[in-house]
Amino acid sequence: MNEVIKLRPCPFCGHEADVNISEPSKQVFCPNCGAANVWGEDAVRRWNRRKKEIIKNCPICGARASVYMAYDSTFCVQCRKCHLTSSYKRTRKEAIKTWNRRVGE
Ligand SMILES: [Zn+2]
Ligand SMILES: [Zn+2]
Repeated sequence: MNEVIKLRPCPFCGHEADVNISEPSKQVFCPNCGAANVWGEDAVRRWNRRKKEIIKNCPICGARASVYMAYDSTFCVQCRKCHLTSSYKRTRKEAIKTWNRRVGE
């Protein structure tokens, strides 16, 4: 049985990614837009690693903010200093998006 490799979609176009294997080396590529990473044993791990979403600083005091999960499993972003809190969202991503939105942008 072949090893099942879980790949995240292409970060550029969202297309399903594919993997070239030449044991022990691998390369992940996107058949749609041609994106590819360098060959290596850890190619899949590198492909699946994504930069963490950037949480903007607090719009009131400029301090750093963090994501918190509430008891009911909803998420919000809260300023570490003045405790300004975004509205609660079902996903971490939505909470960050809400927090990062600024009037006039
Ligand atoms: Zn692509
Ligand atoms: Zn603040």
